[in-house]
Amino acid sequence: EPDFSDRVQRVEPSATIAISNLAAELEAQGEDVVDLSVGEPDFDTPESIKQAAKDSLDAGDVGYTSSNGIPELKDAIVDKLHADGLTQYGEENIIVTPGGKQALYEIFQTVIDDGDEVCLLDPAWVSYEAMVKLAGGSLSRVDTSQYDFDLEPALDELAATVSDDTELLVVNSPGNPHGAVYSREALEGVRDLAVEHDFAVISDEIYKEITYGDAEAISLGTLDGMEGRTITLNGFSKAYAMTGWRLGYFAAPESIVEQAGKLHSHSVTCAVNFVQHAGVTALEEVDEEIVEMRDAFEERRDMLIDLFAEHGKDVPVPEGAFYLMLPVREDDQAWAEEAVEKAQVATVPGSPFGTPGYVRLSYAASKERLEEAVERLADADLL
Ligand code: PLP
Repeated sequence: EPDFSDRVQRVEPSATIAISNLAAELEAQGEDVVDLSVGEPDFDTPESIKQAAKDSLDAGDVGYTSSNGIPELKDAIVDKLHADGLTQYGEENIIVTPGGKQALYEIFQTVIDDGDEVCLLDPAWVSYEAMVKLAGGSLSRVDTSQYDFDLEPALDELAATVSDDTELLVVNSPGNPHGAVYSREALEGVRDLAVEHDFAVISDEIYKEITYGDAEAISLGTLDGMEGRTITLNGFSKAYAMTGWRLGYFAAPESIVEQAGKLHSHSVTCAVNFVQHAGVTALEEVDEEIVEMRDAFEERRDMLIDLFAEHGKDVPVPEGAFYLMLPVREDDQAWAEEAVEKAQVATVPGSPFGTPGYVRLSYAASKERLEEAVERLADADLL
């Protein structure tokens, strides 16, 4: 056995994956598991995007591309960012990556040195923590133990956590695991802290296109004072149902792109050529399908909230992404394990996200399966 690096030994396997594995084991034994633990749309990729990839393959787009991405895609991304009000970014500010995860990984590796302080605005997605640890950063997590989770960011707790030593903060709205879409006031609160303590912020906007009702996901980088200190991240996985295609990007001040570009070219070289071409079609031609998927998620959210209410469970109503946080009556880890074992329903415990007492449910599943899940949880006396 090799002497494993300190780096890799600092991190644990993803909490999301641990429960999925348990669910997969049960399924292998012939059990029918309703898997609400994974964060991916249950839809097929829109046809025109698939066709664009096929056309691109037929046209021979099979070689390496320029490392930071093909110009057509960078152009389309810049147009999209400008439409969102992020006019500070041009082509020179973009790196196209094999998935949003790789974008995040590159950002942390580029900006964070051993001991640099990174703050997460809890509840926060589990992979941020792992990536910060891999980069050698020191995490300052917001103490949410006294925080009454209500889909607003824990701003008071955040203010008590950040300081002039903070190098970087991660904000994710609409967010995983909570589905919250932060208000302008909340984002201004974040901005005020970033300006006061002079730190940079990653705005993870991977769920930006998935919001419900009147909710609008505001891009943090559009706020006064944030233009030059925001690294904006997005990808195609969630909005376009393209998880397996692996396509994402980030936009950052040019100095960051210059440094990150080295890491990018020496590691992945570039994102997949024909997938980048399909990405152009996604951004330029696909609107209707996004709306259809979003509407379907919204209907499911409403249905789930109603079903939980029928069982006496008051669930905070998230306005974006496709997750909700279910309050559970005991230790969330134990509850999630019981839910898989007794009800064959897979969820993710909230503790690793910074929200003990809750589990995360993904409602990117059919209505029938969601109904089945609630029924089983009720039958197993878990609601
Ligand atoms: N950011 C958040 C908050 C996520 O939930 C995910 C995926 O689960 C990602 C980024 C990365 O997604 P991908 O690498 O598929 O683009």
